[in-house]
Amino acid sequence: MRVELKGLQKRFGKVLALRGVTIDLPEGSRTALIGPNGSGKSTLVRVLMGMLCADGMVLFDGVEASEERRELARRIAYVPQIAPRLAAPVGDVVRAVAGLRGQAWTEVAAIAAALSLDLDALARRPFRALSGGQRQKILAALALSSGAELLLLDEPTASMDPRSRGEFFRLVESLPSSVTVLLCSHRLDEIRRLVDRVIVLAEGELRWQGSAAAYLDDHAEAVVEVQVVGEPADTWLLARGFTRGATGWWSKALPVNERARLLGEIGRNLNGQVRDVMARDVERLQPDSQGERE
Ligand code: ADP
Ligand code: MG
Repeated sequence: MRVELKGLQKRFGKVLALRGVTIDLPEGSRTALIGPNGSGKSTLVRVLMGMLCADGMVLFDGVEASEERRELARRIAYVPQIAPRLAAPVGDVVRAVAGLRGQAWTEVAAIAAALSLDLDALARRPFRALSGGQRQKILAALALSSGAELLLLDEPTASMDPRSRGEFFRLVESLPSSVTVLLCSHRLDEIRRLVDRVIVLAEGELRWQGSAAAYLDDHAEAVVEVQVVGEPADTWLLARGFTRGATGWWSKALPVNERARLLGEIGRNLNGQVRDVMARDVERLQPDSQGERE
């Protein structure tokens, strides 16, 4: 599904939450929407969902949203930032949402199981009695098994455990390539794994848009950490600018695009002396980061 926002403006009393935002999400695009707290990300997503009205235009596949809401509801899936605390039992919530799209309970339960959640065991519990992470997994399972053409994911893994987060990534990656994904997130791992484009909002305005690779080049730094055995390895690492931490891990920060070469060198030069090695993204501190990022 293609999504076009034209001059989107939303006011809450004195707060102008969106100030003329124009965005085009081509069919099958995977976009991260990032920006500090209060920059308007959730508002934008909720306008797309039809949960809030706003000035400006929202087009889905070229058709104005306001004309087709009922039909659109089936084609769009949403995982909210904070899952609602519904009093109804989990089973009723799942059946009500799944019923809208003709999803089978077993399909939803299979995805939930992949996220380490036993839907059948929880079916009689009040939805609001579950933990934030459990509620988020249920909503994620409903969205991922929905067959929707547009997925709106508002910080979907914020309260998931690391293992479920990894599984969630795998599930999003295995969606058909025609599915359009808009993901509110400032997690670098999600940006690297799940999206190809980044849009930055600040104070309700579009501040930057471009490729995820360009965004990460500017905002991420690679850290390579290695544990070795033997003095020759220590000497080799020291000579390459690694520093040793209290727990014995050597670490070095470097530009992301130099990480692969360094890992290759470690493999060739410290053959047999490496006990463990790790490479990850960290946020690069920038002079202008205060105003730009969370
Ligand atoms: P983000 O998701 O980027 O953190 P939000 O879209 O939640 O930002 O909020 C954008 C701005 O709009 C904030 O100033 C927030 O306080 C305000 N806002 C959001 N929802 C409401 C609401 N229902 N009523 C009043 N103000 C709101
Ligand atoms: Mg938000």
